[in-house]
Amino acid sequence: MQIIDRIYIDGAFVTPHGNELFDHFNPATEQVIGRVRLADAEDARHAIAAAKRAFPAFSRTDKHERIDMLKRMHAAVVAKENALFEAIVEEYGAPVSRARWMAQHASNVLLEAAKVLEGYAFVREAGSAKVVMQPLGVAGLITPWNSNAGFICGKLAAALAAGCTAVIKPSEMSALQTRVVTEALHEAGLPAGVFNIVTGRGETVGAEISAHADVAKLSFTGSTIVGKTILRTAADTLKRVTLELGGKSPMIVLDDADFDQAVPLALDAGFMNSGQACIAGTRILVPHARLAEFERKIASAVAQVQAGDPRDPRTSIGPMVSRKQWERVQRYIRIGIDEGARLIAGGEGRPDEIGAGWFVRPTVFSDVTNDMTIAREEIFGPVLSIIAYRDTEDAIAIANDTPYGLQAYVASSDAARANAVASCIEAGRVLVNTLAHEPAAPFGGFKQSGIGREYGTFGIEAFLEPKALIGVRVNER
Ligand code: NAD
Repeated sequence: MQIIDRIYIDGAFVTPHGNELFDHFNPATEQVIGRVRLADAEDARHAIAAAKRAFPAFSRTDKHERIDMLKRMHAAVVAKENALFEAIVEEYGAPVSRARWMAQHASNVLLEAAKVLEGYAFVREAGSAKVVMQPLGVAGLITPWNSNAGFICGKLAAALAAGCTAVIKPSEMSALQTRVVTEALHEAGLPAGVFNIVTGRGETVGAEISAHADVAKLSFTGSTIVGKTILRTAADTLKRVTLELGGKSPMIVLDDADFDQAVPLALDAGFMNSGQACIAGTRILVPHARLAEFERKIASAVAQVQAGDPRDPRTSIGPMVSRKQWERVQRYIRIGIDEGARLIAGGEGRPDEIGAGWFVRPTVFSDVTNDMTIAREEIFGPVLSIIAYRDTEDAIAIANDTPYGLQAYVASSDAARANAVASCIEAGRVLVNTLAHEPAAPFGGFKQSGIGREYGTFGIEAFLEPKALIGVRVNER
């Protein structure tokens, strides 16, 4: 049983003022594996005060000092990669190959930010004016459980690269990962107060950060519903807000696609991160004329997908993070059946021979129409919908007929056609015949998938405000 009863404020591990104890589960066994003492609003205020004190000196650091800090943070997180990997498998249930990627991603994002900073110009010219990109102030960073360590490091990297100080509110369901990351970042030896990490509930700690007048910037990743609450709360103090929210991403399989490539691509895009991915390609758009062929191939491919013990290297789908999430996914499978979609793989309940753990059967529906609940709402589990289309124009219309616009995928044998379709899609990222991540490219959503962008230059600029100086010579610093 692990007891996690420290938060990180002003460069030190301290006991929270909050005294609520939160049970921590292993989702693959449903066993309680730890207890977390949650911070409260008072802890959040202390953390914000520490970040505010640290801001004047930190915001004046030169970018080379910050590059050096980011590199130290990177090295410190690399040094804890195995501990982070263990925490991810234990508390989140990510299959081992995914967990390894996630543990490495957490350090990579720090190095990527250092690289972007190397080439970034904080001073520019606009006509006769000198334009200085100035850090916003204290940043509140709020993360979800589905990639907690990566989001902590990614948001912090961008905030610090810009010269902001930070208060991080990680998911309360990811306390093991948070502890490993916090210990690593502490080792990097940054000035006290530059970053503070306060694990607590969203309604208390998250709400305090969203409302506090001394927080200038919010960067939130999570559900669209909470994102809207945060945006409303932040309006009172006109905080700058970046929101990375939900998705219902289309995987558009064009009629010329080679199904031997398109089917595995669709399954990998749909089932990534055990289906608990905002970018999952959950609506698979297939031409009517080739529907039967696609259904046959995907049904036999799903039969090979192993959902179960995350420590078994053959597993590609681990458990849902919590009982609540498992019940949510089960409810959507039931809704799909009730609304007349046809199951071609999976269904309700746990996979065969699994008696415990929040496991879901890898599920694919066909005969889905884009107005069905399972095609409109984010399920956040391994449940995919095949939607048949008439022609390419119809496919584009269906792809864009969603409140979301985070990511889209196009599968085709013809690069020019695929690119033409990609240019018509309303989404922050469109991936053509690939699932590759490009860390230098902006990431974020159109429509209700969010506001603003993360990663690369766009990600750093989300923590900066341009200031025009007129009447000074441009080369005067
Ligand atoms: P969530 O919105 O419930 O919680 C996210 C974070 O917000 C948690 O730390 C939570 O404690 C906090 N929070 C909750 N209520 C709050 C409030 N009133 N004020 C401030 N903070 C509050 O989401 P989740 O269940 O942790 O994660 C799953 C969701 O995240 C999915 O909807 C998914 O699409 C989304 N997501 C989006 C991205 C992206 O980049 N677009 C990435 C991962 C997950």
